[in-house]
Amino acid sequence: MANSFTRMVSGRNTAVVLASIGAGTLASGYLLSDATAAAERSRLYPPSADFPDLRKHNNCMASALTPTIYARLRDKVTPQNWTLDQCIQTGVDNPGHPFIKTVGMVAGDEESYEVFAELFDPVIKDRHNGYDPRTMKHPTDLDASKIQSGMFDERYVLSSRVRTGRSIRGLSLPPACTRSERREVERVVVTALSGLKGELSGRYYSLGEMSDREQQQLIDEHFLFDKPVSPLLTAAGMARDWPDARGIWHNNEKNFLIWINEEDHTRIISMEKGGNMKRVFDRFCKGLKQVEQLIQERGWEFMWNDRLGYILTCPSNLGTGLRAGVHIRLPYLSRDPRFKKILDNLRLQKRGTGGVDTAATGDTFDISNLDRLGKSEVELVQLVIDGVNYLIECEKRLERGQDIKIPSPISQFRK
Ligand code: ADP
Ligand code: MG
Repeated sequence: MANSFTRMVSGRNTAVVLASIGAGTLASGYLLSDATAAAERSRLYPPSADFPDLRKHNNCMASALTPTIYARLRDKVTPQNWTLDQCIQTGVDNPGHPFIKTVGMVAGDEESYEVFAELFDPVIKDRHNGYDPRTMKHPTDLDASKIQSGMFDERYVLSSRVRTGRSIRGLSLPPACTRSERREVERVVVTALSGLKGELSGRYYSLGEMSDREQQQLIDEHFLFDKPVSPLLTAAGMARDWPDARGIWHNNEKNFLIWINEEDHTRIISMEKGGNMKRVFDRFCKGLKQVEQLIQERGWEFMWNDRLGYILTCPSNLGTGLRAGVHIRLPYLSRDPRFKKILDNLRLQKRGTGGVDTAATGDTFDISNLDRLGKSEVELVQLVIDGVNYLIECEKRLERGQDIKIPSPISQFRK
């Protein structure tokens, strides 16, 4: 624990380090009293008496959590005083999800992934197709010039989007942050973003200052996150104090956007109508590099390590944090019984076009990469491009009354 705390402090420049030493002293003060409270509690009730009832659950956490692991982790806390029970609450309260298999746990801070590794690691392995966070290294590649054939047939693809998340090291993540930490994230990020120039220059719109109509319009246009209606978010504590310190920054063209303090400290998005995924990814890479530089110039840095890549709230987003996707019309293929198997083999995920909590309506779907960890950004975007082009080929064949083939499963990791 001391190690991870030292790492948290050492990741920031001198001025910030001084500030966080103050906070750190405070945190270790709480830690002592918390440790005492936890020790007392465990004398009263053994871990077996606290083990959650997971018999009806279908999420990765529920599959991985055993009474033995729970007993070893129940009374541990991170330097920011976050517990295992807080990490898994969302997965206990949400046994399943109608459209996707959920992870069932979140991190409260960067150190959660280490202090509770005994549970996070198998969950990560399950969600990320066998990626072993103890032995494997995660690659990063933001060179968009490597992308091949990134222009989709616009008779099928309506819009293209690439997003990731980034967290500010030293501040608790949205399930755990205090109001002051959340406001600090907003301040740090918005100040940095004012340095973006040229086609990326824009401004910040605070949710608290937006009218309901303006907010709804941005949601309907797919630019803004939904109101915190998802039980996955609310049960994880991410809707606390809504809309305090939440907002959206976007450039004047509305094709480079940054969400602040939704599920992650930041979500960085490049999107536009039509099928030019290469251009979308190119803007994503340029914008992301500039945002990182502006944040670093102010003495902050993103949470990252070489085993887990970029650290985000939900383990499903570790690694690249990247979801590259299209809204695509597939009237024939989506009615074909082989559709699901084709998506699985191409490592693609299907969502409704209103976001992860919406059912697909009609013939249009959000199709994106399923994996985020163990492959680089370039590899994942290329996988989506090749996969979506395959889906379009299938759609065209079915239109002409020809047969289609289920492709063989693509390999997950580089040898
Ligand atoms: P994320 O994983 O980025 O949080 P969600 O499924 O929660 O995505 O959706 C967030 C918003 O982004 C929704 O309004 C959704 O319609 C929009 N969106 C996602 N992909 C696309 C796309 N390819 N084109 C247009 N809008 C999109
Ligand atoms: Mg979302």
